[in-house]
Amino acid sequence: MSEIDFIKTPVSEIYGSNCFSNALMRERLPKNIYKEIRAVQAGEKELTLEVAEVVAAAMRDWAISKGATHYTHWFQPLTGLTAEKHDSFIAPTGDGRVIMEFSGKELIKGEPDASSFPSGGLRATFEARGYTAWDVTSPAFLKQDKTGTTLCIPTAFISYYGHALDKKVPLLRSMDALNKQALRVLHALGNTSAKRVYTTVGPEQEYFLVDKFYFDQRPDLLLTGRSVFGNVPAKGQEMEDQYFGSIKERVAVFMRELNYELWKVGISAKTQHNEVAPNQFEIAPIFSSTSQAVDANQLVMETIQTVALRHGMQALLHEKPFAGVNGSGKHNNWSMSTDDGINLLEPGENPESNARFLLFTTAVIEAVDRYALLLRSSVATSGNEHRLGANEAPPAIVSVFFGGPLTEIFDNIADGKNSAQSASTGTIQLGVTSLPKLPKDVSDRNRTSPFAFTGNKFEFRMVGSSQSIATPNTYINVAVAQVLKEFADKLEKSGDKNKAIHEIIKESYSKHRRVVFNGNGYSDEWVKEAERRGLPNIKSAPDSLQTLVSTEVVQLFEAHHVLTKEEMESRFHIYLEKYSKQLNIEAGIMIELARKSIFPAVSGYAAELAGDAAALAAISADSKAQEKAAKTIASLAGELEAETVKLEAALAGAREIEDAFAQAKMFNGKVKTAMAAVREKADALEKLVARDAWPFPGYEDLLFRL
Ligand code: ADP
Ligand code: MG
Repeated sequence: MSEIDFIKTPVSEIYGSNCFSNALMRERLPKNIYKEIRAVQAGEKELTLEVAEVVAAAMRDWAISKGATHYTHWFQPLTGLTAEKHDSFIAPTGDGRVIMEFSGKELIKGEPDASSFPSGGLRATFEARGYTAWDVTSPAFLKQDKTGTTLCIPTAFISYYGHALDKKVPLLRSMDALNKQALRVLHALGNTSAKRVYTTVGPEQEYFLVDKFYFDQRPDLLLTGRSVFGNVPAKGQEMEDQYFGSIKERVAVFMRELNYELWKVGISAKTQHNEVAPNQFEIAPIFSSTSQAVDANQLVMETIQTVALRHGMQALLHEKPFAGVNGSGKHNNWSMSTDDGINLLEPGENPESNARFLLFTTAVIEAVDRYALLLRSSVATSGNEHRLGANEAPPAIVSVFFGGPLTEIFDNIADGKNSAQSASTGTIQLGVTSLPKLPKDVSDRNRTSPFAFTGNKFEFRMVGSSQSIATPNTYINVAVAQVLKEFADKLEKSGDKNKAIHEIIKESYSKHRRVVFNGNGYSDEWVKEAERRGLPNIKSAPDSLQTLVSTEVVQLFEAHHVLTKEEMESRFHIYLEKYSKQLNIEAGIMIELARKSIFPAVSGYAAELAGDAAALAAISADSKAQEKAAKTIASLAGELEAETVKLEAALAGAREIEDAFAQAKMFNGKVKTAMAAVREKADALEKLVARDAWPFPGYEDLLFRL
């Protein structure tokens, strides 16, 4: 479905055509109302009902002119997905006709039935009321499909008592917290022009495409997004070259349409082919303010899936759809910017920008070291557990990459060495003290670092491909806000600012430089070295999630008014339950496939071979091979069944546990181990039986045929 001829229509006509952007608001709203909205976006004012009425009318007229019949408050419950509740604009007039209505109240507040979304005990089901409230910082947009056009209003989701029930509320609060502390630091540094500091994010999204024909025959992919069985084809990833020609056109057409669909809603996407694994691709939009980037990324994931289906393909967003080939992540590029356009992580030329850069990057390093466990927990999902610590994604150890030249500069400051002598670039005088001048090119790259500085931003590379980026960004923001707060406290009290800057950097970096690592993050030496440095290495998701209810973290979130203790506890439970649920489904489908598909298929095949061997024995002495193969397969089938029985027992045991943490641990331990044993037998069998005796398409079809 696409009524725009995207080959002929110029991009300029399409871009943002389905987005109620600020530009459109400026065009369609009275000047004073537009000014009000901008002030609300900047956090300077509260939204009033009078202003909302005017905006709602303009939004409605625009949406209806584009064919919309319905509107929905679009929100992000803790499932990690987006949710919608559609209402139509139609209002009966009493004389058999209708008018199209949409009030200011309907724009700013919705009342979905909250009982079906996870709340982690924050809201009893009889008290199912929850509200969605318009998030003015992210633009409304139109969603079009075969059934029509819907106006989608990005909202935050809160309970009747004001508890955060979604991922957006804490994100917005964390942005406010960071804004407040970053502004204090900037003001103490003498900046009087910045009125607001935004965190900016540009997420690079990875995904796989699979032919729908093969996908439909794999219940595991259908139900869990992951193949629980499958052998990596002999030639693995090199085979890509061979298929490149045929992949190219189908995927190129898909990508072009994907871009256009995203451009329509104002998402500046540029797709690119990704060469890491076969049939794996990447899309990266241009960065924006975090709340917009979070919404945009949810839409990107959704759009990838709908557009793929139009082309007879299924997109897989799971972190590890295939064993033995690279998984998918999401690189969360993160920085801080002032409302007047200064990137606070951009190295500068003059003394002020230089000092500012060094101070803000120091704050990030300290935050990553102090809150490494928190950052690690932001990516603790069952899907991502297959990546972290495996040889393809950043390890479970959180470290910062800085590159040679910058590390040298920080080391020199910390060690009190005269930076002019060591940093070849010279120094910048700051009154009595001096800071090193920054080298021109600070952006060397390291693909193995979980938190890499890439010239003017940090790239958090541990995030899983299917995750909402709201949570990782909330945690980064609040951690950095805390360190900036402490810096601001010191700076505001100090007489000699330049001396204070120097001392803060020196003290902070000396204490936290253990988190800086420029070497190969995938190596075994690093694991040992990190342990020596005292850096945590938490491999399992449930263990990692425990951080959320630690005293230190709860205090941090309460101090910055991001989440309360009660809200943190509810999230801890929800994430544990989600982890267990995912593995419960995976184990269940595994048992089903092993028992109902693989076991009968391979037993039948072994019997057939045995029959062949007997028939061959009548005409030739040479029937040993058939007999031997039949025996091997039959006995492996027996082992498969035995492991399946063990998995059933482990699963039954895990299902009975009531305590969420103990249950998640059981899934992480016994259930996963039993699953690996079943898989090992099945994958060995797949290698032994004839292609058409195997009950579903294998990796070769899934990974190489598009
Ligand atoms: P890579 O080499 O990792 O592909 P790119 O330069 O292409 O890096 O950028 C990757 C992502 O980082 C893009 O989405 C880009 O918009 C984003 N990005 C660039 N600058 C910033 C910034 N200041 N803040 C946040 N994201 C940024
Ligand atoms: Mg990148």
